[in-house]
Amino acid sequence: MQTADGYVASLRARQLRLFVDGELCASPVDHPKVRPAVNAVAATYALAHDPKHRALATRESDLVGRPVNRFTALFRAPEDLVRKLELQRVLGRLTGTCFQRCVGLDGINALYVATHERPVARERFVAWLRGVQERDEMLNGAMTDAKGDRSQRPPGQPDHYVRVVERRADGVVIRGAIHQTGAANAHQILVMPGQALREGEEDFAIACAMPVDAPGVTMVLGRQPSDDRRGGPDAGNARFGGQECVVLFDDVFVPHERVFLDGDLEACSTLVSTFAGYHRASYGGCKPGNLDVLIGAADLVTRTNGVRKASHVRDKLVQMAHLTETIHGLGVGASAKGTLHPSGVWVVDPILANVCKHHVTQLPYEIVRLAEDLAGGAMSTLPSIADLDHPELGPALRTVAGSEERAKALRLVESMAYGAGSVPFRIECMHGAGSPQAQRVVLEREIDWESKVKRARVLAGIDADDELA
Ligand code: SF4
Ligand code: FE
Repeated sequence: MQTADGYVASLRARQLRLFVDGELCASPVDHPKVRPAVNAVAATYALAHDPKHRALATRESDLVGRPVNRFTALFRAPEDLVRKLELQRVLGRLTGTCFQRCVGLDGINALYVATHERPVARERFVAWLRGVQERDEMLNGAMTDAKGDRSQRPPGQPDHYVRVVERRADGVVIRGAIHQTGAANAHQILVMPGQALREGEEDFAIACAMPVDAPGVTMVLGRQPSDDRRGGPDAGNARFGGQECVVLFDDVFVPHERVFLDGDLEACSTLVSTFAGYHRASYGGCKPGNLDVLIGAADLVTRTNGVRKASHVRDKLVQMAHLTETIHGLGVGASAKGTLHPSGVWVVDPILANVCKHHVTQLPYEIVRLAEDLAGGAMSTLPSIADLDHPELGPALRTVAGSEERAKALRLVESMAYGAGSVPFRIECMHGAGSPQAQRVVLEREIDWESKVKRARVLAGIDADDELA
């Protein structure tokens, strides 16, 4: 299995075409706006070699006959789904941000399910996945099409979607644009459709893989609040960060052996719904881990302010923890109530997974509000470290700003609430794995309304009881 250092070294071997602030980036790994996000992915490699976490971070693979990093493994046993959540919580707490590797993990499992009873697709997919496991690659799951005018279907505005523009004897050519978490830190891109598609939309029903530096692939790093502070003393999170990119596919050729689904509407629909379930449960792992860090930072500020024992402060911290565990409990529940798909892979409970993600679009905002309450207004006037270290101003400013500990804790709260750290935390909470309405749509579809009405009719004395003698 790859090590954290090996992973970083392997990224250097890529000929990645990445633009940052209007300039082609010569060495993405060393760019201060990119490196914190590379560090977060590297943590997923480090845990596989850490005796304390190895059992959680690795899994025996029946495809290659040896342990692999859990981020490349199939959910073959019922406990695998819960283990994933536990691993995500650990990584979320260790990094305080998005470690970007779960879309690929959830994607490979969803593709395994979707290629069930499609022998050609399955064979190609498994052959490819073996290579991914052997090389321990970071996969970037790509399914968030630009979408443009939501009132139009993909064929009405094809440039807003990734689609096949040419089918050749040896493969397909794809074109389009997509939003992707962690794209610039990956080895391969796993393209998947972002929504169920209808007859006549077969060109958009494509699932395939390509190296991140395949000819025609261009990435552009997203501009984010206070991203100039990354890697510097005022960053807030001193070591880790998330990453969002726009990826342009300009007639990228994909050979048949890496084309898993092409125009298969039914399999693509399975892929989309299975992936959504997995990834909506995933947020019950990583985000509670991130929230652990925010709670810790808020707690630390109250300690340095001498108010930790005040009853209202304790109550607010308990409320933050209570909401955090609510999210985690739903993610674990969705995973523990998983079922075995006929393909041999476990899938989550779709209702609990969607309830989990739906809470993630709400509760962290309340937790951030409480953190801002506890942090106090000093967060808005806190001078930079350079000011605090200034030979003339420093002594007076340090008296105002308080201890170094307090200043750094305030910066961390600030970053997660509305700085660079808020993008992989808050904005991902809202829109990652689908925006809030997407979960309501699934809930309305999945909930068995009739059984509820049926029981109400019985207990109201309208119908006879045929369920309980
Ligand atoms: Fe993983 Fe969470 Fe980031 Fe999604 S948002 S890739 S689940 S860390
Ligand atoms: Fe995400």
